[in-house]
Amino acid sequence: LGSKINGALSKLNTASVVDEAAVDSVLKEIAGALLMSDVNVRTVAEMRTNIKREVMQDSIRAGSTSKAKQIRNAVFNELVRLLSPDVDAYRPVKGKANVFMFVGLQGSGKTTSIAKFANYWARKGWKTAMVCCDTFRAGALDQMKQNAIKLRIPYFGNPLEADPVKLAEEGTKHFRDEGYEIILVDTSGRHQQEAELFEEMEQVMDVVEPDEVIFVMDSTIGQAVADQASAFKKSVPVGSVIITKLDGHAKGGGALSAVAATNAPITFIGTGEHFDEMERFDARSFVSRLMGLGDMRGFMEKLADSKALEKSPEMMERLQKGQFTLRDLRDQFKTILNMGSLGQLVSMIPGLSQMMQGQDPTAAQKNIEGFMNCFDSMTEDELDGIYRTRIPDPKLPGKYTYVYEKQISESRLRRIAKGAGVPLQRLYLLIQQHKQFEGMVGKLGKKGLMNDQRMQQQ
Ligand code: GDP
Ligand code: MG
Repeated sequence: LGSKINGALSKLNTASVVDEAAVDSVLKEIAGALLMSDVNVRTVAEMRTNIKREVMQDSIRAGSTSKAKQIRNAVFNELVRLLSPDVDAYRPVKGKANVFMFVGLQGSGKTTSIAKFANYWARKGWKTAMVCCDTFRAGALDQMKQNAIKLRIPYFGNPLEADPVKLAEEGTKHFRDEGYEIILVDTSGRHQQEAELFEEMEQVMDVVEPDEVIFVMDSTIGQAVADQASAFKKSVPVGSVIITKLDGHAKGGGALSAVAATNAPITFIGTGEHFDEMERFDARSFVSRLMGLGDMRGFMEKLADSKALEKSPEMMERLQKGQFTLRDLRDQFKTILNMGSLGQLVSMIPGLSQMMQGQDPTAAQKNIEGFMNCFDSMTEDELDGIYRTRIPDPKLPGKYTYVYEKQISESRLRRIAKGAGVPLQRLYLLIQQHKQFEGMVGKLGKKGLMNDQRMQQQ
């Protein structure tokens, strides 16, 4: 999406006059890109009108470059606005029972999200429990039980009871009586939005009296999001939304449609199958990511066809295995800089372009230098993703051994930032950027990357 938007905007830079027709044509292209990212048709049309109004308010006099920037900002702000409905999600209150009812189609990720959500609150010290009233899917209770045991969180269910409404009533009553603070009710889904599903949901709702109904939505279902979300909203008062499966190269535009259809805020996004793979949703960073994904892809494409790869069989091999170290990132930065295109590098890296908006080229140059200094101030091990410390071997006096850290530690980061003479925040950005690239390489590998590119071009 980012590269398409950037592509459309760059046409403004070369246009001699930026009149209404030029703005229209750019907006048309951007709208096309949004549709491809699964943003709902109506939402896109609305956005287009809003952006045009905002951009045309200012005189056309403004130079074409600033016009392009203005449109980009308008798109960014409009997407953030769409993702920020003016209602807040329910905030649980300490010391009382807060009941959350999870709804969504079968396979959307309800049971998994409940486990993640339970883990999130239990870790914060809230007394948390889960109730299974999915009597539709075979093995639903077992799935919850396994999660509950792993997380050491109590659950309620009864394999002999076939009535979900009874289960819901008994389960919530049980945990309310026991003084639980976070009670999560798992409902059954169906493959389709059937009348039966909605009836059951409404009955469960009546006995559970939830403080919040959470709609769980699979981000990979594409343009179907809007219909699905409105169907649920019509049947139960959806208070907030959890978007799942936003890992890999899911497009994410569906999130906008879900919010537009329910007028409910997104609270969390699921980014994997593990319990800790859930992030708090933040509209601004989500939109940066949404708009920047194409840029990252652009960066990876550069990487895939750069001469650097041919010269470095080891790097090729690592990429194929899905590895991408800080050293690889450094080498890639160098290659692009050697090609003499600072602007290109900046526009390709989402965090960077955000950070450098409104800065003059020399300041941007300084920032890149800052990054390079960070790389220089890392040890060889750190560049290779090995974080170890040498300590005296407790078993063999006089000898040494290593302790390994899984991730780069806070104290290392402080040391590196200090050595490089950059603010710690700047280094965080670099590390975060690397993580995103690493994730992408991990998902795609070199072969996958190539295939993916081909698909993109079709
Ligand atoms: P339910 O039918 O709505 O309860 O859905 P489940 O919780 O059983 O999830 C369906 C499938 O999606 C399972 O295989 C989950 O592991 C998987 N899943 C759920 N959330 C995520 C996510 O955020 N990322 C990925 N990759 N898989 C997920
Ligand atoms: Mg389930």
